[in-house]
Amino acid sequence: MHQRKQAGHHLKNAKTRGPSLSSASSFPSAISAQTHPAGTLDTMIGSKHEAMEPAFSIFSAEAKRFPLILTLDQNGIPHRWITWQHAVWYYAKQRIAWETGTEAFTVNGGKCRNTGELSSVTAASIIAIKGKAMAIRGFNQTPPLNNRELFHRDRHVCGYCAGIFSHSKLTRDHIIPYCRNGIDTWMNVVTACRPCNERKGSRLPEEANMQLVYAPYIPNRAEFLILANRRILADQMEFLKLHVAAHSRVHLVS
Ligand SMILES: [Zn+2]
Repeated sequence: MHQRKQAGHHLKNAKTRGPSLSSASSFPSAISAQTHPAGTLDTMIGSKHEAMEPAFSIFSAEAKRFPLILTLDQNGIPHRWITWQHAVWYYAKQRIAWETGTEAFTVNGGKCRNTGELSSVTAASIIAIKGKAMAIRGFNQTPPLNNRELFHRDRHVCGYCAGIFSHSKLTRDHIIPYCRNGIDTWMNVVTACRPCNERKGSRLPEEANMQLVYAPYIPNRAEFLILANRRILADQMEFLKLHVAAHSRVHLVS
């Protein structure tokens, strides 16, 4: 972590004016354990006793403009995507255990009234967060099933005719049909184009003489993070792929 000329009370200015994010190519990829004076960035974020993490939506307009930061637990297990605002909060709260990645982003705040110096925080593209709470949210939890991530898992390929389609032309097909007690889980769904889905109807693949061209599987958390973010930085992708299961179709994409 690098924090230069912190002037805590200026973060509010930074927030209202919007950040200036720039890639800091000279930023070291290794851990930087530089400490910062107590009570600086804390004061711009709020009370030191504040326990709750702020809610910064990764779906906000600003989050769409800037790359998301990948968080890990202290052991290096991928956890989630956060906005740069949330990353700044972690830095301010001294919750960064270590950082990695080849990219970094500098958020410029306001000018210090007393010294005239500009405040800024440089956040790495991949940061490990201190605390047990991170580790508890297990890596092995089944990620939520959504069409977007499902279609990405299946590379937008119809599971029956092997055609490649855009999102709007695809559907979620239940291998064991919903109406025959098929459940809505990663292992019972594949991506299907509309004509194939309609042709299969409420039949099993073998009943419809429609063989699956690939098998369903449950993406692990690392893969789900890849599927859920279209603007992954190269270093983040490289890191996440190390944690993706060998059978994953993510490895088919360069
Ligand atoms: Zn099809």
